[in-house]
Amino acid sequence: MVELDNYLDGEVAAAVRVQLEHHLAHCKICTVLVDSTRKTLKIVTENGLFDLPREAFEPIAEEIMARIRTKEK
Ligand SMILES: [Zn+2]
Repeated sequence: MVELDNYLDGEVAAAVRVQLEHHLAHCKICTVLVDSTRKTLKIVTENGLFDLPREAFEPIAEEIMARIRTKEK
C-alpha cells in the first residue's frame, strides 16, 4: 500500500490519518483490533493507532483502509 510508505509525513499521510481516525470513531471492530494490538505489544498510548510502531501500524492500517474502501463501494 503506497500511501502507508509515507504515512509519517506529507499530505497523503494526513489524509490517510483523517480517514482512519474517522473510521475508528464509529467502528467498534477496528477499535478492538487496535486495542488488542496495543495490549499485545504492551504499548500504552494516548493516540491509539498512531503511536504504534510502524511495523504494528501498517498491517492494521491496511486492514482498516480495506474495510473503508469496501464500505464505499
Ligand atoms: Zn472498521
